[in-house]
Amino acid sequence: MKCKICETESFSVLYHGRIRTGGFGNLSDEKQTVFCCESCGAGFLPDAGFDYEDREYREAVDGAADVRLFQGLYDGEQVEKLTVTGSEGYRNAIIADIGCGGGSFLDFVSGVAGETIAVEPCESFQIKLAEKHNVYSYVREALVLWAGKVDLAVSFAVMEHVDDPLLFLQEIRQLIKPGGKVLISTPNYDDWLLKFLPDIYESFFYRQAHQWYFNGRSIQKLANYAGFKSVELVYKNRFDLSNTLHWLRDHRPTGIGKTETFTEMDCSYKSLLERSGKADFIYAWLTV
Ligand SMILES: [Zn+2]
Repeated sequence: MKCKICETESFSVLYHGRIRTGGFGNLSDEKQTVFCCESCGAGFLPDAGFDYEDREYREAVDGAADVRLFQGLYDGEQVEKLTVTGSEGYRNAIIADIGCGGGSFLDFVSGVAGETIAVEPCESFQIKLAEKHNVYSYVREALVLWAGKVDLAVSFAVMEHVDDPLLFLQEIRQLIKPGGKVLISTPNYDDWLLKFLPDIYESFFYRQAHQWYFNGRSIQKLANYAGFKSVELVYKNRFDLSNTLHWLRDHRPTGIGKTETFTEMDCSYKSLLERSGKADFIYAWLTV
């Protein structure tokens, strides 16, 4: 076995056990091994993945491959992305969203953007996306018209799904114009809950859909291999103290705000994790 990112052949074990195969509670019958490249630090699950052109993945994760359902589930998450990007830089700009799903993020910015490019392989989303955006299944198809023209390319929680994250970022890099930016995000395998609650949280965190697992250091290395010189990491803890307390008590995710007793402490809780790199999620700004 050779790391697809750095070609190293030595691996340690990041996780060995049953993994999530869909929503919470759906676990693999067999134990699986997530390997960790000893050079670049990327985690890798062999035999992972879904056919993302088919409805299968969305049905496994969301219950159905339907744009309305997607919007209901994910519109609420778009505020967090805008807190990372700010609202400047979109006016008259060319914005691409790689792996955009039902297009929630592009819908929010398209009011001020000049052009929006939706890259999404799931065919059942494409007809709806095409009503508002330029639609492509893959970045290599978008490159024909948009290479070197894009101001901002975003890709939220996608690179952990792809077969070859190095090629994925190299292709995205070709989309952006000189001075343009890329913003990617992915779950963080340095998430403190993985160390604190390994028995109940690891089999939720590691999942069939995610072929790759990253922390700050491995994103940095991957981005450098892909030709980005500057990498700025932004850690975000998406889930609150209430969610953690419920994991402890109920051994399951409950989402955000289930108990409001400790809401005032959320700011400190999140900022501590974000400053120490142990937050559950990582954004990375990449520039050439
Ligand atoms: Zn590697």
